[in-house]
Amino acid sequence: MNTTTKHVFAFEDGDGKNKHLLGGKGANLCEMTQIGLNVPPGFVISTAACLDYLATPDHTLPAGIMDDVHTQMRALEQKTGKGFGDSENPLLVSVRSGSAMSMPGMMDTILNLGLNEQTLQGVIRATGDARFGYDAYRRFIQLFGKVALGVHDEAFDKEFAAIKEAAHAKQDVDLSATDLKETAERFLKVVQNATGRPFPSDPYEQLEIAIKAVFNSWGGKRAVDYRKQFHITPEMANGTAVNVVTMVFGNRGDDSATGVAFTRNPASGENKLYGEYLVNAQGEDVVAGIRTPKPIDRLKVEMPEMAKQLDELRDKLESHYHEVQDFEFTIEQGQLYCLQTRNGKMNTVAMVRTSIEMEQEGLINKQQALLRIAPDSLEQMLFPRLDPTVKADAVAQGLPASPGAASGIAVFDADRAEQLGHEQGLKVILVREETKPEDIHGFFAAEGILTSRGGKTSHAAVVARGMGKPCVAGAEGISVDVDRREARVGLTSFKEGDVITLDGTTGKVYLGAIPTVEPDFTPELNTLLGWADAVARLKVLANADTPDDARRARSYGAVGIGLARTERMFNDVERLPIVIEMIVAETPEKRQEALDRLLPLQRKDFRELFEVMSPNPVTIRLLDPPIHEFLPDEHVLERELSELRVLAQNARGVTVLAGAMGLLHASDALRHEVDTARRHIDPAVVEEVIAKKEAMLRKVRALYETNPMLGHRGVRLGITFPEIYQMQVRAILEAAAECAKAGIQVKPQIKVPQVCTAAELRKVKTFVDTIHAEVAERYGKPVSFKFGTMIEVVRACLRAESLAEEAEFFSFGTNDLTQATFSFSREDAENKFLPLYNQSGILQDNPFDVLDVKGVGKLMKLAVDWGRSVKPDLHVGICGEHGGHPASIAFCHEAGLDYVSCSGPRVPVARLAAAHAALLAD
Ligand code: ADP
Ligand code: MG
Ligand code: MG
Repeated sequence: MNTTTKHVFAFEDGDGKNKHLLGGKGANLCEMTQIGLNVPPGFVISTAACLDYLATPDHTLPAGIMDDVHTQMRALEQKTGKGFGDSENPLLVSVRSGSAMSMPGMMDTILNLGLNEQTLQGVIRATGDARFGYDAYRRFIQLFGKVALGVHDEAFDKEFAAIKEAAHAKQDVDLSATDLKETAERFLKVVQNATGRPFPSDPYEQLEIAIKAVFNSWGGKRAVDYRKQFHITPEMANGTAVNVVTMVFGNRGDDSATGVAFTRNPASGENKLYGEYLVNAQGEDVVAGIRTPKPIDRLKVEMPEMAKQLDELRDKLESHYHEVQDFEFTIEQGQLYCLQTRNGKMNTVAMVRTSIEMEQEGLINKQQALLRIAPDSLEQMLFPRLDPTVKADAVAQGLPASPGAASGIAVFDADRAEQLGHEQGLKVILVREETKPEDIHGFFAAEGILTSRGGKTSHAAVVARGMGKPCVAGAEGISVDVDRREARVGLTSFKEGDVITLDGTTGKVYLGAIPTVEPDFTPELNTLLGWADAVARLKVLANADTPDDARRARSYGAVGIGLARTERMFNDVERLPIVIEMIVAETPEKRQEALDRLLPLQRKDFRELFEVMSPNPVTIRLLDPPIHEFLPDEHVLERELSELRVLAQNARGVTVLAGAMGLLHASDALRHEVDTARRHIDPAVVEEVIAKKEAMLRKVRALYETNPMLGHRGVRLGITFPEIYQMQVRAILEAAAECAKAGIQVKPQIKVPQVCTAAELRKVKTFVDTIHAEVAERYGKPVSFKFGTMIEVVRACLRAESLAEEAEFFSFGTNDLTQATFSFSREDAENKFLPLYNQSGILQDNPFDVLDVKGVGKLMKLAVDWGRSVKPDLHVGICGEHGGHPASIAFCHEAGLDYVSCSGPRVPVARLAAAHAALLAD
């Protein structure tokens, strides 16, 4: 240990910028003292001393520290004209902890340290107030006993309750000086009994014990758990400082008070002092909620001079810190003291408003206005939230899969959701064990989705996020019983029709209705994001599949669509049957027939997207998923078939068969057959249904793949079933031609998924060119479009030079590229081994959440460089989920990408993050 290191700093000397050494509280106390604010005299013992202390095997204070403390205490005596341990005019201090990060898990503050039988008499003589003296004393004994000596609160509370009862006192204030004297005496005995030693009466001994207790608290379970929970690393905060501060008393009569305040309103951002105070009270009383504090406005009436000084203090704090401050003050007999300040924690609405207003007031510049807001926090402003003033206990906790809050009646299947939601106009929450593509109509009808199984990438989560609906996924505490239309949660349960509330932002589930607060995309947010766009280099586009998504994304400021997934357009109650027909078609003619029916539907989809986004680019990805994803489940089919066969054999009349038909209803594809069958229930019809189901089962089996994600999907599908891509390309180009005819400016971009070699692109390009020529001829004018590729396969990165010859743009699909780079299948990784990998530090983050810059990012950089070496103006962007995450956006900026594309609600986040990236990069 370096004995020359300075460990103890007077408030006049400590470096107010060095929060690491002095802790946040200590650094600010030094800073405030040095800019001339009225802070009670005091000093800080550094975090370095704490670490040295904890590093010794038997926990001894670093050499010389107590000497320095003595020196500092003598200086305090000089400044205050009081004596520590002096029985005439005693000096009392508080001992406060404080690390670089504010941590509620840390030690409580000890007030009134220095009191003993002699100094107490001095206090009483000096103030002429015995009640005040004994009150301070009993508080000190309890706090010191508890915090520094580890005596349980209950022992004190029991004695105190007994005294109150004997005195017939309801509240502490009803107790007399004699009662409080009695309390102090009993408290001393409590300590003696609990520790086996008398309460330490020597003030310096008290001080040393208290300092050690603060240091020890850093290594205590409470603090260690807290740091773990909130990922506070040693780089962020290491060790706690100790602040020793001269006591000032807000409880010295009606000209004294104590309070806490924000320089601006932390809920709305309004430029007005906001806070509370209590007359004749000590600091902790405000927080403890024993008495109801008064709003700060009242102070103008009660103590006008103090209110004026408080306003001056507020101005000084803001003009010095250039940030909204959250501060503590005490008024002792007409003297105002500031006891603490720190940057105010505000909600996002307030952060945004104060950014704009402080810039206008000249307190900060635009850069600071942008940088002080965490991009992620903007998402809060786009979704309904639970009313924060309503208190409620959650009955279950799942994953926060899609943000926002919603209430509604529980329903347990998609058809019921549609009936009650769409047809009867009720607000419903769809509750499922997990969801499947055929539940999609239920999503449309529901306010929110709750599943008891599945992760953040489960079907429910992905679809809900895409639609911007709240979703809590994998709430394992809930067991869903679809047949009985109820769900059990612990000891209670809810049935269909019972109201529940979800908070997809926190993953919590509540019984009953909790009011929600509507989101507000405020004018201030628009201004702020306008500033962001002006400094950002990356453009922000949106991933949007439907005109509604696109409209929403556009209202959030997206300047185009970077990814429109066409398969989502297939997954619709009306279309799925046609898609299935296309897939099960036994002949090319039959397949074409189905495609001919899909063409106008897709053309309409694309036209709407173009219109909504005009004149910005709309990038449409050709069909990607393995085709069997659109077919019914093999086991379900098998079960249905065997039941149907039994029923067909024993057809015993209309009612039984009607039941059987109900069963058939499960398959949307055969809905109209079912209806026909309902009308003429006749065994021949049943046989026909059986035959169709058998054909379907054959097809399902024929399309079976061991590894569908690595199988027949993406461009591979487009090459083996060219008619599908041809239909889509035609729909895109015709839609564009129609728009052009109507005078709507469009920029269509055709994007091919899963490409690994340029030959695939060339192949697709041949039919794109043919169709383009046909469309140009038919509409009398060629439409311009761009042709490009997803980069989501490792080989595509390695062959970027060759792909760039065919493609006008690259779009990184980092979800698949991450799977491919790690050779992890996402679902398996996240459900099985990734949590352990993260816990044990093998991988720091989940690469599906946080872009793996070192691996996946390296591939991206190579691909960008190689691609641009062939085509310098190659347009490059990212459309994986990472495109909406600030850290990944910073990487994309650095890697030279042109744009990021993310889900609509992430667009504001991405715009701000793109500005941060640009500001922090240079
Ligand atoms: P916390 O970090 O929990 O806010 P503090 O150290 O700020 O803990 O102290 C708790 C309460 O005691 C606060 O209300 C504070 O204002 C008050 N307090 C701390 N030191 C003094 C002091 N020297 N004189 C008067 N009140 C004090
Ligand atoms: Mg405090
Ligand atoms: Mg992909």
